Amino acid sequence: MIMSKALFLEPHYGDIAWSCSGLVAQNRQDPIIVSIFPPKRKYYRIQFKGIKYRRKKREEIKFANILGVEIIYLKFKSAFLRGRHLEDLFDKILNPVEEEQVLQLREYISELIKKEDISELYCPMAQRNQIDHLIVKKAVAGLNKIDFDIYYYEDFPNFMPESRKLQVSTALKAIKVDISDVIEEKIHGILQYDSLVEPYFISKEVLVDLIRKTPFETFWKEDI
Ligand SMILES: [Zn+2]
Repeated sequence: MIMSKALFLEPHYGDIAWSCSGLVAQNRQDPIIVSIFPPKRKYYRIQFKGIKYRRKKREEIKFANILGVEIIYLKFKSAFLRGRHLEDLFDKILNPVEEEQVLQLREYISELIKKEDISELYCPMAQRNQIDHLIVKKAVAGLNKIDFDIYYYEDFPNFMPESRKLQVSTALKAIKVDISDVIEEKIHGILQYDSLVEPYFISKEVLVDLIRKTPFETFWKEDI
């Protein structure tokens, strides 16, 4: 039997938990998550005065333990640490430092795919053009595609209303994955991220209700 091993690329803390944890829960053959722009103390001083950055890492470690997944943390500087501001966070033009990050990340992913014999690569769709997400997508776009498939995941919590989502290119084929058999694990995993639940949802109950109403995850693949 051919074993398929999946690699999930996460620009930021929580991206995989919120977008693909159902699939991660179903993928029992040692999936790997690579977290590219990890929480940094300095970033939290700039962005969220008072919120302890360590708390974020603790939340994600709890998530990883629940889902039984390994998370590798890289040390790329996220947008704010590179000097971007809120106004240009969704500006699609990469500066030279960011172009360099694309190359470094591509090199890293390419090595990891070979080393771990990865057959499925999950990459953010960058639907909102958040710059860090775009950097990851560009790194993946330039990979030599030998022996592995690329899937793009919905990098906006997939239980948000359709009206709040951007259109996706029709050159991609949408795949809806039924995750109802692991929905309780998904909920349990996502609820570890208190620091993401608090700012975006009125209550945990509201969030849980939304997840239950959306027992699937959407991925896109090039339609060949
Ligand atoms: Zn993100």
